[in-house]
Amino acid sequence: MTYDYIILGAGITGLTLLKKMRQKGIVNILALEAEKEPGGLCRSFYVDGHVVDIGGHFFQTKFKDVEDFIFASFPKEKMYKIDPRISKISIEGMDVDYPLESNLWQLPVEKQIKYLISVIRNGEALGKPEPKNYEEWIRWKLGDMICDNYLLPYNIKLWGVTPAEMDVDWIYKIPRVEVEEVLRYSLERQQDVEKYPCHNRPYYPTSGGYGRVMEAVAKDELPYIKLNTKVTDLKYDETTKEWIVNNEFRAKNIINTTPWPDLYEAMGKPVEIKEYISKIKYNKVVVSLFETDDNPTNYHWRYRPEMTEQHHRELYISNFVKDSKNYGVFTETNANRFDADRVTFKGRNLFNYTTPAAYPIPLVGRTAAITAILDFFKPKHLYGIGRWGEHQHHNHDVCIKHALDFVDAL
Ligand SMILES: Cc1cc2nc3c(=O)[nH]c(=O)nc-3n(C[C@H](O)[C@H](O)[C@H](O)COP(=O)(O)OP(=O)(O)OC[C@H]3O[C@@H](n4cnc5c(N)ncnc54)[C@H](O)[C@@H]3O)c2cc1C
Repeated sequence: MTYDYIILGAGITGLTLLKKMRQKGIVNILALEAEKEPGGLCRSFYVDGHVVDIGGHFFQTKFKDVEDFIFASFPKEKMYKIDPRISKISIEGMDVDYPLESNLWQLPVEKQIKYLISVIRNGEALGKPEPKNYEEWIRWKLGDMICDNYLLPYNIKLWGVTPAEMDVDWIYKIPRVEVEEVLRYSLERQQDVEKYPCHNRPYYPTSGGYGRVMEAVAKDELPYIKLNTKVTDLKYDETTKEWIVNNEFRAKNIINTTPWPDLYEAMGKPVEIKEYISKIKYNKVVVSLFETDDNPTNYHWRYRPEMTEQHHRELYISNFVKDSKNYGVFTETNANRFDADRVTFKGRNLFNYTTPAAYPIPLVGRTAAITAILDFFKPKHLYGIGRWGEHQHHNHDVCIKHALDFVDAL
């Protein structure tokens, strides 16, 4: 049997493709998923009464069709809005609201003066041209103090590469606060949360973790998903113009939602994309659950730029998952920094999970590289959609949007 479409991976991108194709009457389809359940990065674990999301997952989107898509499977009434969102940055020995540049007024006056002078002397304020790598961009946009004390160490911890190696074509995801606004917020001693690029009032399920949403989205798609099936071999049959997956499944079209470096291996390292694949890198993140003796904060999450801490973010789950056991916290740590015997968060470590792939690293040159890879395979009906298929730092709402648009265009 030859499928019309085989989808590699059943995270939210694969699930959206399946659902939307079926709605369109395309039913000769199959998704192959390595894990024992669908949902990918948006899943949750339930450990001793605690909820652990694979990374803090929240839903807020500017796309109406994406909202409709989620709420058609998981009714809006089963969600609540996190408002106000309480996210902090640990800096200068205290906790300051996110983003730091809008909340410098929370620092002691002497520190505030130093940070403000540094912001005023930034490259943008001095009229210098916008730099092309991320480290230079941070300095240019926000000044040396915010760069050296917060964003540089934080990004090194999160990504596992230096920001000097990273591009600037993804920074629409971070707040763009102008110098005048930094000064205004400092003088008025308040920030404008509407300036957040995303997640200022995100939705979250009233019960369980974000994985509950994935379970609902996946429910009707399960007959079209083959679980526990890792794609390890992918070949193109020039005679039949069909793809053969794992020497078992045949398809006229393949939609890849898994990391390209892994698929490159499964395809036997095609020489035509060798130079591009070297720019396509991803990292892994360890999600660790801790139980503490009391709840130290009312925060939802806190960023930890200090190099002395292994992890880069703490999520106070019992503060936003309404039926999670008390005093649960999970942390996110780049897998290269993680040492289970030396965790730095103070609490009982109950559970650790390493994501096989967490963040597509926005290296300089990777957008040109992924474009070349997608262009190369398109004539053979092999496509890439979603966080891995497009190798872009997309949130899950953008993955849904691109999957919906892809099927619309068929
Ligand atoms: C720590 C963290 C926090 C995040 N927070 C948010 C947030 O708050 N809001 C938001 O909107 N987005 C957030 N995101 C982004 C969001 O998780 C992703 O955009 C989205 O889940 C990507 O979906 P996907 O289906 O494209 O990829 P994935 O979810 O990674 O799905 C890919 C699937 O492919 C499978 N797979 C991989 N290799 C193979 C193989 N060889 N064979 C078969 N199957 C394979 C995987 O098991 C997986 O199920 C966060 C991401 C991380 C890492």
